[in-house]
Amino acid sequence: MKAGPDHCRAKAFIMTLSTSSILATPSAGEPQRKEPLIGLDRPSLAARLRELGVPERQTRMRANQLWSWLYVRGAIDFAGMTDIAKDLRGELAEHFTLERPKIVTEQVSMDGTRKWLLRFEDGKEIETVYIPEEDRGTLCISSQVGCTLTCSFCHTGTQRLVRNLTAGEIVGQIMLARDRIGDWPGAQAEDQRGLPSSERKITNVVLMGMGEPLYNFDNVRDACLIAADGEGLAIGKRHITLSTSGVAPEIPRWGEEAGTMLAISLHAVRDELRDKLVPINKKWPIKELLAACRAYPGLSNAKRITFEYVMLKGINDSIADAKELVRLLAKIPAKINLIPFNPWPGAPFECSDWEQIEKFAEVVNRAGYASPVRSPRGRDIMAACGQLKSASVKERASAKQLAASH
Ligand code: SAH
Ligand code: SF4
Repeated sequence: MKAGPDHCRAKAFIMTLSTSSILATPSAGEPQRKEPLIGLDRPSLAARLRELGVPERQTRMRANQLWSWLYVRGAIDFAGMTDIAKDLRGELAEHFTLERPKIVTEQVSMDGTRKWLLRFEDGKEIETVYIPEEDRGTLCISSQVGCTLTCSFCHTGTQRLVRNLTAGEIVGQIMLARDRIGDWPGAQAEDQRGLPSSERKITNVVLMGMGEPLYNFDNVRDACLIAADGEGLAIGKRHITLSTSGVAPEIPRWGEEAGTMLAISLHAVRDELRDKLVPINKKWPIKELLAACRAYPGLSNAKRITFEYVMLKGINDSIADAKELVRLLAKIPAKINLIPFNPWPGAPFECSDWEQIEKFAEVVNRAGYASPVRSPRGRDIMAACGQLKSASVKERASAKQLAASH
């Protein structure tokens, strides 16, 4: 799909739901913090059951039952787990929780894109975005609160890193999204707008939200393995894409241990420029990055690496750049995704002119790469790539200032 000529203009319509009914109350005063079950794999679930006194010969079966309640049916309480003995249900409820991250705000764009600002137990916040299409839906999830890297065109990069997300917090984003769009067996969304016609509403997951996922390797890997499990959330590895700014040494290991699809935030074809746009390039320059890509296991025409290239006016969008891009990727099974730059307040760049994007795309097309321009989604709610965690923080900051001045 191609972006229209108004691709750089934000749309005006914003729909923010009242959050009073979905913002859960803080759990202050609870005597003991319960352990979240979401994010645990089968062996860990079995271990917890053992600790509760479930006999050894039953733990495997019980762990599978729990797993299925969690990840197939999306259970939100233990009471409904009818095939588990009542006493055990009570024990489980006493020690564990099935809680999702709390919704601070839920916004629905005029194009059906949804963005959630989510809060964890410690008050830290992240954003998760759902992008529906006619017959599929993509969930864009975060891997860290903020990001330690400082890519100059990315708004997330202007936020200080606070911490890595746990595997549970990463899987929790998928669970929460499935709750809200009615993507569990027999469920229905409260708000049906823009949802795909497919039976499954989330067909794809991309790690393209806040954070550098390869800097939180273990938790992101554990979360992806849970999400990909065919008898659980069942989002196959081919439908999960990890996007990295270029942590070269971790790329082949990611392939071995997680084996999802891979996207690389390339954005420049010369080290001198990439050093400025994606500063991690100083550590692992283009040559090293591409060598790591070539070492990604299982590459073929059916399993290609996506190279993301943000279109910045007068910076990286010349025809010479396009030709060099094609030359650089010639021997790698690759797709190219041209991303119109999504502006944010105070950004030091502009999006390339549409004519220039088309000329650039033509060079890329002629080299055999199909439909490479990613159309921006959800710009009216600041949900597009690189816009995350922006207006939401500002709004509340200005509300605080206002409160302080009165
Ligand atoms: N940290 C990872 C994943 C999150 S960013 C990474 O950098 O790959 C997801 C994608 O959005 C990356 O390709 C990133 O370069 C791109 N992006 C960031 N800011 C952007 C902006 N303002 N406009 C368009 N794309 C942007
Ligand atoms: Fe971090 Fe990715 Fe943004 Fe760079 S583009 S600052 S790596 S989130």
